[in-house]
Amino acid sequence: MDNAAIVSRGEKYVMRTYGRYPMALVRGEGARVWDADGKEYLDFVSGLAVNSLGHCHPRVVEAIREQVGRLIHCSNLYWIEPQVELARLLVENSALDKVFFCNSGAEANEAAIKLARKYAKEHRGPESYEIITMRRSFHGRTLATLTATGQEKFHHGFAPLPPGFRYVPFNDLSSLRAAVGPRTCAVMLEPVQGEGGVYAANKDYLQAVRALCDDEGLLLIFDEVQCGLGRTGYLFAYQYYEVEPDILTLAKALAGGVPIGAMLAKERAASAFAPGDHASTFGGNPLATAAGVAAFKALLQEGLVENARVLGQYFYQQLEGLVREFPQLIEVRGRGLLLGVEIDGPAGEVVAACQERGLLINSLHGHVLRFLPPLIVTREDIDRAVTILKEALHEVLGQGQK
Ligand SMILES: *Cc1c(COP(=O)(O)O)cnc(C)c1O
Repeated sequence: MDNAAIVSRGEKYVMRTYGRYPMALVRGEGARVWDADGKEYLDFVSGLAVNSLGHCHPRVVEAIREQVGRLIHCSNLYWIEPQVELARLLVENSALDKVFFCNSGAEANEAAIKLARKYAKEHRGPESYEIITMRRSFHGRTLATLTATGQEKFHHGFAPLPPGFRYVPFNDLSSLRAAVGPRTCAVMLEPVQGEGGVYAANKDYLQAVRALCDDEGLLLIFDEVQCGLGRTGYLFAYQYYEVEPDILTLAKALAGGVPIGAMLAKERAASAFAPGDHASTFGGNPLATAAGVAAFKALLQEGLVENARVLGQYFYQQLEGLVREFPQLIEVRGRGLLLGVEIDGPAGEVVAACQERGLLINSLHGHVLRFLPPLIVTREDIDRAVTILKEALHEVLGQGQK
């Protein structure tokens, strides 16, 4: 089927929950993908931060091939060898002690919310259940995680929302301090906000949040579903901030493209869960975790975290050059290879003009261009992306010179 055939069938049979571009991607290799009409694109969306190793990384493909012929699924009534191995790798390379596996970012955050409530009931009292989250945050689409998400547009039409969440402005310590009360059980945030428009936390802010949580006996939950696993130029974003969370959630890039989620916790918090408190049929299944082991080893052994740091800086500088050139571009934001450019102009049209020229990027809220290249990206790929972006900006914004 070509693009048109897939689109027309999709419109007939698939539920309309996504605003989609009228094309289907059918093949990928490294930083490149091809649509059903055979057109090639440089992929700076990366499945929204999932394909950090690029498409079809050979070590992930090989691990899946091997595992799929051995054991695809096994219940968590029994121990699962690749699940144990992925947990070991995550624990030995992070500041957390125990891992619960699930299948998505929202599920990882649901698990974090449940663990925080259970812990607080035992350590702070039965009325402590409220989780403070940030404005412009994004934590998922299940009822609890969409309520945790501090953006009203995601809440519309879904009332009644579960109680137990309140929102404060990001990077604003005094608002957070004022919001803490006897009901508070945890603070949950993304060290670098992704979907909300690419906003990084300030270092002194996160350090002060940690101190506040310690003083008040609150758990600190970092949602690194998007910004974790090398994306910011650090294996975990918290490492740049030199702040250790009590609970850390991961998903997106964790298994090289296969669905997975993980909720990690320090021993003290993790011990609030007893057998039977939480579960997932597919969580930590042999196929996903075998892919996860291969993906995690590739991330560590192929220098990709370092690449994200070095090329993230290079890309940032190139984008700053464009901001100097085009008066409608306001600023560059983000860390590593999670970058955004605020634009006073039609971001969606810039995305479309890039796509036409063979570059996939994405936009947020109509005024932020977001760039999520794979961590295997090269300097040449970035140069090519910047050239295309510049042409697209000229087309959409005109010749504006500062
Ligand atoms: C994508 C994302 C989620 C939700 O992950 P799903 O796998 O779509 O459920 C949660 N938190 C953050 C920060 C994300 O970027």
